[in-house]
Amino acid sequence: MYKASCLCKGVELEIHGPIESIIHCHCSLCRKSSGTAYATNGFIATDSMKIIKGEALIKSYAFKPGRLRHFCSNCASPLFSSNADLPEKLRLRLGLLDSEIEERPMSHNFITSKANWDDLDADLPRYDTFEPSRLKNCLK
Ligand SMILES: [Zn+2]
Ligand SMILES: [Zn+2]
Repeated sequence: MYKASCLCKGVELEIHGPIESIIHCHCSLCRKSSGTAYATNGFIATDSMKIIKGEALIKSYAFKPGRLRHFCSNCASPLFSSNADLPEKLRLRLGLLDSEIEERPMSHNFITSKANWDDLDADLPRYDTFEPSRLKNCLK
């Protein structure tokens, strides 16, 4: 069982089953709804997700008929998406997870839609916290 929550912790979810087909999606819809370079999403069975807290906070936006993106109306965290043509599955936003998971992403998708500053192969340095210049200035 995996636990997940939004930024404000108003919505708490449990996933009682596997997370399948995890991908890093660089499509323009995921970029806009996440506000960043890509979204990491995976399929879960609809009946494997329990809303532990905050059901009333969950609002949705239909970007196409039957295609809903659900989010926390308090903190605006993207939560999951649903598709009326595939009601037995939900697409979970993996950044919500508070649990360590067994599953791993399998690919970067829609890379032809990626932002021109999003360099998949960048050999960028990695830091445990902020980059050194930001630590020095104590900015967050
Ligand atoms: Zn929230
Ligand atoms: Zn996408």
